Amino acid sequence: MGDIDREIMVIAEIDEEGTPTRLTLELLGLGRGLAPPEGGVSALVLGSGVEKACSELASRGAERVFFLDRPELTPYNPEVWTPLLEAFLRERSPALVLAGHTPLGQDLLPRLAFSLEAGLVTDCVGVRAREGGLLFTKPVYGGNALAGMRITTPLALATVRARVGEALPASGPGGELLPLDLDPPAEAGMAVRERHRLEASECPLEEARVVVSGGRGMGGEEGFKILRELARLLGGAVGASRPPVDAGWAPTTCQVGITGKVVAPDLYIAVAISGSSQHLSGMGDSGKIVAINRDPEAYIFQVSDYGVVGDWREVLPAFLSKVKELAAE
Ligand SMILES: Cc1cc2nc3c(=O)[nH]c(=O)nc-3n(C[C@H](O)[C@H](O)[C@H](O)COP(=O)(O)OP(=O)(O)OC[C@H]3O[C@@H](n4cnc5c(N)ncnc54)[C@H](O)[C@@H]3O)c2cc1C
Repeated sequence: MGDIDREIMVIAEIDEEGTPTRLTLELLGLGRGLAPPEGGVSALVLGSGVEKACSELASRGAERVFFLDRPELTPYNPEVWTPLLEAFLRERSPALVLAGHTPLGQDLLPRLAFSLEAGLVTDCVGVRAREGGLLFTKPVYGGNALAGMRITTPLALATVRARVGEALPASGPGGELLPLDLDPPAEAGMAVRERHRLEASECPLEEARVVVSGGRGMGGEEGFKILRELARLLGGAVGASRPPVDAGWAPTTCQVGITGKVVAPDLYIAVAISGSSQHLSGMGDSGKIVAINRDPEAYIFQVSDYGVVGDWREVLPAFLSKVKELAAE
């Protein structure tokens, strides 16, 4: 155990059904492993209609759930959230604030770090308590190396990838629910004008247990149809390397990699992807990696658990029909 001596605070994300995301529950589990006996782990919830989520967080590891339930807080607007969280964190003075390495966490934590003059490590794949404090681990050089980092400011902030922590099972009513007495700012310079729902089969990638990704070798939009069908049958999501996204065969939200999303599914199927370091840094933490590529020398085979050397036009239809057969049994 290191010398972390104050509370760990997890900034919760709530999905459209009003449930905490899996990553939020994992962060509570991670926080519980790091927390001091005194102080423990708290969750911080901003949003509207958050009652159900707060109870779940309280029963899944949060000793305290601080919440502010106001319509102005949904959808996320950094100009509304940042001053509220800044005021709360200044007063509460935790040792560590954890958020998911999600679009929200990536947008919010740098803003908070700046206004609170706190140290920040983004995209962590590990947070461990060591003598002398916490050690944060993150991939660097396009995922080719891991860097260990410490934060020396009194408050530390970190965004963490999925599957780093383990969600705790629900146990009883759990922690206390504590409403916050804070008013959102009356005006914000930024407003959300429109929201577009993505097709269910295309996202959310970060939460998917199975990801079927296509690369440049798919040759066009047509190729992605078969990937969608396979993803649907396997209950997963479709991903892509950068070239298909640049070419418009797949939406930007599907891109996996250093400038795309970071995924950690149980199964990652990489079809016609060569395995560049920029792509690997987004999917290297997947449980099992299966590669389909016609080039036996493709680098992706060096990082995959199973590989099929062949043209996807032959391999995928056969694979798909086998999956259908098994699904029908
Ligand atoms: C700053 C920067 C950021 C980047 N960020 C990202 C990122 O976030 N994500 C990302 O993915 N890339 C990113 N890239 C691009 C990256 O460097 C690679 O160019 C890219 O990942 C290659 O994609 P690919 O594997 O699909 O294509 P290629 O490298 O062209 O590989 C295509 C593969 O398909 C195989 N193939 C072709 N036809 C078939 C077939 N019929 N059947 C089976 N196999 C076939 C080929 O053998 C080959 O291995 C970034 C690059 C830069 C410079």
